[in-house]
Amino acid sequence: MKTGIETKCLHLEQENNSGHFGAVSFPIYQTATYAHPGVGMSTGYDYSRLQNPTREHLEKVIAALENGLDALALSSGMAAIALMMELFHPGDHLIVDADLYGGSIRLFKNISEKNGITFSNIDCYNEDVEFFVSENTKAIYIETPTNPMMHVTDIAALSKIAKKHNLLLIVDNTFLSPYFQNPLDLGADIVIHSGTKYLGGHNDTLAGFVITNRADISEKLRFLIKTTGAGLAPFDSWLILRGIKTLGIRMEKAQSNAMEIARWLCGQKAVTQVIYPGLDTHPGYEIMKRQARGFGAMITFQVESKEFALSILEKVRLIQFAESLGGVETLITYPTTQTHADVPKDIREKNGITESTLRISVGIEDVNDLIGELKAVFAEIEKEKRK
Ligand SMILES: *Cc1c(COP(=O)(O)O)cnc(C)c1O
Repeated sequence: MKTGIETKCLHLEQENNSGHFGAVSFPIYQTATYAHPGVGMSTGYDYSRLQNPTREHLEKVIAALENGLDALALSSGMAAIALMMELFHPGDHLIVDADLYGGSIRLFKNISEKNGITFSNIDCYNEDVEFFVSENTKAIYIETPTNPMMHVTDIAALSKIAKKHNLLLIVDNTFLSPYFQNPLDLGADIVIHSGTKYLGGHNDTLAGFVITNRADISEKLRFLIKTTGAGLAPFDSWLILRGIKTLGIRMEKAQSNAMEIARWLCGQKAVTQVIYPGLDTHPGYEIMKRQARGFGAMITFQVESKEFALSILEKVRLIQFAESLGGVETLITYPTTQTHADVPKDIREKNGITESTLRISVGIEDVNDLIGELKAVFAEIEKEKRK
């Protein structure tokens, strides 16, 4: 029987908790090491950098949610991406989205390039990706929708190009979570998550995941996590497991709030652009409908001036001015000085991130309270302008 994704958030197919006294909440194995029953014998667990039952349980849940063969839990999203990058060697070339999470751009520019890997940063959603493939190209790395400009790439179409040239297709699926999108089903080879965001969902824990459906890649990644050591701690693994239990209802509520806020923003004179893939005016709307089960809850918008943007950030209270996304609390971010501060100014501007760009991660509060606050804040700014 194929179980639905909401059930998968709560139950593994081959679940057996009799070894844990029937505990419904998976136990936290807070141990660094494991005693051996005898010489040359092992319980299957030797040392927590290699194996920990709590982390392993979380990894099985994540693999099930993404329809992967294996998932690895890391101490943050960046630790996951850094581990994944160890699959490549000096001389390798990667094609990566130009608009990406700022930390990924920083890692590629400052660490991967130092290690002899080169990059073509292009807009995979609308540029001729094949044109950039050369002899040493090994992979294509994308986000869809991208952070923060929300460009949508057709994963299945890109995977055809990847397969034709024997390249890995790597998709950072953080913005939609496995609840709304499963890139491996669309032909991707590796999926990345910042578990800090929707999977954890409560703005309280950092985590990251690398998921694959290829046995050869899984084997390499297992060697790398054992060797480099950034596996997720047992307690943090448990917090993410707990967050995942409500992934479905959180995603649905956040998305419906986001849709209403996006529509409200569209009606504001001071808002010059609303970028939300759930609006049928978004260029990626049709692709999203085909390849995802929802549109997510991230909205990027432009206001009339830098001053207007800063005033919003000064005045919001219920909506909190903070980095990060994907939690139950609504957060507003200023990409130019926060998430994308380390992205060189010319690239930032080429991507369309300006000093009047704001990004909202919509949470699960009563949407009337969220829109109520935005209304009050906008009205107050207009009043101050007239003074
Ligand atoms: C936050 C984020 C990351 C990095 O994850 P951390 O858990 O903060 O290390 C990577 N990709 C995307 C799309 C993100 O939003």
